[in-house]
Amino acid sequence: VKADREKMLKALSDFKASMPVNVPLHINGKEISTSNIFERVNPSHADQVVGKINMGSVDHAEQAMQAAQTAFKTWKTVPAAKRADMVDKLADIMTRDKFKLIATQVLEVGKPWAEADGDIGEAIDFCRYYARHMRELASPLRQGALPGELSQYIYKSRGVTAVIAPWNFPLAILAGMVTAAAVTGNTVVMKPAEQSSVVAWGLMKMIVEAGFPAGVINFLPGYGEEVGEYIVNHKFTTTIAFTGSKAVGLHILNKASLVQPGQTHVKRCIIEMGGKNAVIIDNDADLDEAVDGVLYSSFGFSGQKCSAASRVIVLDEVYDRFTDRLVEAAKSIEIGSAENPKAYMGPVVDKEAYERILGTIAEGEKNHKLLFKANVPSNGYYAPATIFGNVPGDAKLAQQEIFGPVVAVIRAKNLDHALEIANSTEYALTGGLFSRSPANIARVKEEFEVGNLYVNRGITGAMVDRHPFGGFKMSGVGSKTGGIDYLKQYMEPICVTENTLRRGF
Ligand code: NAD
Repeated sequence: VKADREKMLKALSDFKASMPVNVPLHINGKEISTSNIFERVNPSHADQVVGKINMGSVDHAEQAMQAAQTAFKTWKTVPAAKRADMVDKLADIMTRDKFKLIATQVLEVGKPWAEADGDIGEAIDFCRYYARHMRELASPLRQGALPGELSQYIYKSRGVTAVIAPWNFPLAILAGMVTAAAVTGNTVVMKPAEQSSVVAWGLMKMIVEAGFPAGVINFLPGYGEEVGEYIVNHKFTTTIAFTGSKAVGLHILNKASLVQPGQTHVKRCIIEMGGKNAVIIDNDADLDEAVDGVLYSSFGFSGQKCSAASRVIVLDEVYDRFTDRLVEAAKSIEIGSAENPKAYMGPVVDKEAYERILGTIAEGEKNHKLLFKANVPSNGYYAPATIFGNVPGDAKLAQQEIFGPVVAVIRAKNLDHALEIANSTEYALTGGLFSRSPANIARVKEEFEVGNLYVNRGITGAMVDRHPFGGFKMSGVGSKTGGIDYLKQYMEPICVTENTLRRGF
């Protein structure tokens, strides 16, 4: 642990010495600079510029699409095992550069050390898992057939994939979508989030080092409404892999349904969106475990996880005991610079998020009972860990995704009522239950509308292979990331039937 701590401190100081990092575009194997520079600041210390991002224009987006379309002609013929080897090589490089990658996230998006470490681990796991799965999917499956008939089920690549990513898991989510698309034989135009383009540039450099040919994966930093929109609408795009907010996800689904002149494919959309996740605390729950689980689920990375719990639905009988303990425990959360290894919560991602979250808290204070609001440092974008009590299940605070460290505690009369409240939002991403009753556990497993349910443990979000991750309702469409169905979405299943009696002469 001590050695790791020293490596981490060195990585942070080396990275700081390289700031501001110049982030170019990378299209068809070439770095490109633009005249439109976006300065990304360190959310823990707003006076430090982490990166100068060359933002792409629609002309650059067009170049990236042309490069990906051309590269597809040869990339689709590269054997699956060779593509998988490149993805494994990428995982090797990530493992080698782990501390540098953690340091980049700490400084660019304000992720505390442990959370950033988790993100790199997840990125590596995605690479290994998708490489392994592609090797398995590469052999044609035999279907049941009549004597003298051979019927095979073969997965083929589709074409250019537009990958559009959020900033909150800046390496894992981006690397997951990009490697899934590339290992399945597609070419990629990747559009990182504006707030995490330095991390994404680190990924692009590792992709080059891993040996992916020019044009197979193109790097297009830029604004969502400009280059993101352009690649979604483009006639060459066959698949869109998007992770982000509900508003942008639904907008993309709309746009993708409009067929452009010269377009050959119906665009397939793999869309992961937000959540308004709830944890139910049953009357017989172990309250120590429940408090721990809620603190972890709600305040990890300042609540800026799609999986974060922002509603805690507590049965009447234990409501007072639970909230007293939760508030007491919340007082121990350390909030400070993400560079400080002791900080459990760092800043939120930028000024816009900070102002939005503070606005939500101020509105909450007018309408609800404030149970707790933490003190925060003043020189960065630090939002306080905040808990409101007795919030009605249909209040705005209990219905809208906040994406910050704000928790609404809701009182429920009984388990029926708790489930009714839990299922009353438009989202269905994650959920939790603390209970000792087998009958109640069985019931909640059956009736709680969520993609990932965690019973008697904190909500963790995606854990590749172990907890494949994803939601439904307004939380997304598509298969779970890190799960057995995920790669198939990037491919076209072809069924080939042959009369083998006519083989030979
Ligand atoms: P966002 O929707 O604001 O942005 C996501 C990406 O979309 C960015 O790259 C952005 O530039 C791009 N974009 C914006 N407008 C666009 C447009 N018109 N056309 C094309 N692209 C456009 O989301 P965010 O703030 O980066 O991330 C936070 C959100 O992501 C939260 O809602 C969170 O719940 C969600 N999220 C979901 C998951 C999941 O697995 N379900 C995981 C992580 C984050």
